[in-house]
Amino acid sequence: MSGNHPINVRGLNHWFGTGEARKQAIFDVNLKVARGSLTVLMGPSGSGKTTVLTLMGCLRDVQDGSICLLGHELMGAGNALNEALRRRLGFIFQAHNLHGSLTAMQNVQMGLQVHHLDDPEAERQAARHALSLVGLADRMDYLPGNLSGGQKQRVAVARALVGNPDIVFADEPTAALDKESGLNVVAMLKKLGELRGTTTVMVTHDNRILELADRIVTLEDGRIVSDTSPVQD
Ligand code: ADP
Ligand code: MG
Repeated sequence: MSGNHPINVRGLNHWFGTGEARKQAIFDVNLKVARGSLTVLMGPSGSGKTTVLTLMGCLRDVQDGSICLLGHELMGAGNALNEALRRRLGFIFQAHNLHGSLTAMQNVQMGLQVHHLDDPEAERQAARHALSLVGLADRMDYLPGNLSGGQKQRVAVARALVGNPDIVFADEPTAALDKESGLNVVAMLKKLGELRGTTTVMVTHDNRILELADRIVTLEDGRIVSDTSPVQD
């Protein structure tokens, strides 16, 4: 049963543009991801990594093929299902996109807005916990301007994790970090996989991170050209 796999992509194709400009970007991608695993997507610029990640993350409509995410088919899914599923996902992008006028704590609380907890104390507690997880317990009241690049990225990680997501999608999350901070962020995601089954799919060009990956999937020209440990049925 595909429900055992948080992500199951079958026969995925995707096109950009219309008319003469219409161009296929993704060709017959098949990818089944195990719960709690850390999968790295690699490949040259323009090979389709971000497109696949955003399709799996309900940030783009599936045009052709199938993506079963947390037991729900995304092909033909409406806004309501996409929104409900996105609440169970965490996103970390290269640009950390923190709000400069909000403290670390308030930025992390933003990650809970979609959850409509309506309980400010519960929100603060969850934000405190997430910031402790990323080692920023003593920086909660700092504004981003007073944090280092690595610390800012860790706030963004805390914001992605605060809602206790089932899956984290990360697009080059360590690009702006020094070696040690980058490895820390990835090691933390890996630990969450072991501790609570959080599944991570991460795009990276960073060779240093590959040792931490459970699996490396390489894309070229919109196709998977290698997969270190394909999941069988
Ligand atoms: P990667 O993340 O591996 O660099 P992308 O998924 O961003 O690759 O892009 C894959 C292909 O799709 C590229 O040829 C890119 O030019 C094209 N593409 C991506 N996004 C768009 C878009 N919004 N409009 C048109 N073409 C796009
Ligand atoms: Mg990209």
